[in-house]
Amino acid sequence: MKKVAIVVGIAVVAIVVLVITGGMLKGNGGGSSGTSEDKGTGGTDSGAAGLPGLTVRILDVGQGDSIFIEEGDVEILIDGGVVDEGKTVMNDIRGSVEGKLDVVVCTHKDADHVGGLADVLKGFDVGQVWWNGDTADTGAFRGFSSALAQGKVKGTQEKIVRRGDVLWAGGNLVFSVLNPTGMTGSSNDNGIVLNLMYGITDFLFEADVSDTVEKSMLAAGVLPTDVNMLKVGHHASKTSSCTELLSTVRPKVAVYSCGVGNSYGFPTQDALVRLKNTKATIYGTDVNGTVTGTSDGVSVKITVDRGDAVWKLGT
Ligand SMILES: [Zn+2]
Repeated sequence: MKKVAIVVGIAVVAIVVLVITGGMLKGNGGGSSGTSEDKGTGGTDSGAAGLPGLTVRILDVGQGDSIFIEEGDVEILIDGGVVDEGKTVMNDIRGSVEGKLDVVVCTHKDADHVGGLADVLKGFDVGQVWWNGDTADTGAFRGFSSALAQGKVKGTQEKIVRRGDVLWAGGNLVFSVLNPTGMTGSSNDNGIVLNLMYGITDFLFEADVSDTVEKSMLAAGVLPTDVNMLKVGHHASKTSSCTELLSTVRPKVAVYSCGVGNSYGFPTQDALVRLKNTKATIYGTDVNGTVTGTSDGVSVKITVDRGDAVWKLGT
């Protein structure tokens, strides 16, 4: 990212305008569901917001999570898969990172999320690291921790995030932190849940949180509605993606990440059935490889490495 003070000012104004416009357009309701291409209600407003375009890639890192988000020269990585997948992530994103990698998010301390981040933190000049402060005495976590310490010497800013935080990553990318509220005994439930609103399109990233957190977010009234792309909680485990959450979030597209033939039985039928009941089009990294959502601020188009959707309305 290039730092120009005036751009910051313009971006802040643009965000305010977008939030206001987004709220008004959302009120119109409508929008299609069950298709991989979400037609917005904006019609000729497409691109009128002057947004440069957003790309969200749910990377295929086997059994784990890694998500790369890009708008112009602003780039964000959420999680890095297991330690061995660090190289995969680096290969996938190296050509897209211009200058600094603006933000790295570690959603929680588990190896399938934090593992690959050591390579990323060592391989790039990283602007900020957002994480939850929950530590682990594991090789995967120690790798992240020591790479973060080295990064801080070079100027990387560290931010411990909590529900209610609104974080600007650069460009038009503003993230709302929906979880955690504090630390519990569950590493999964301590995970960072983020919502990214881009124009009138919403992207919700659930990390590995369970239905306990899903219901807590519901009760707090922090969840977005009519989400264009949901990164499904906990690799489509049966204890995530509860009906209550889905009936509020109403995802048009749901993407889970997991490895082919993983030993956990992901994705579970329980989660898939609940997602189907919301009429969300479902994609999975085990079936489709990397799944990419592209937003112009009005609608989101989905492309995949291979195959058809895991499920869509009418199949
Ligand atoms: Zn996980």
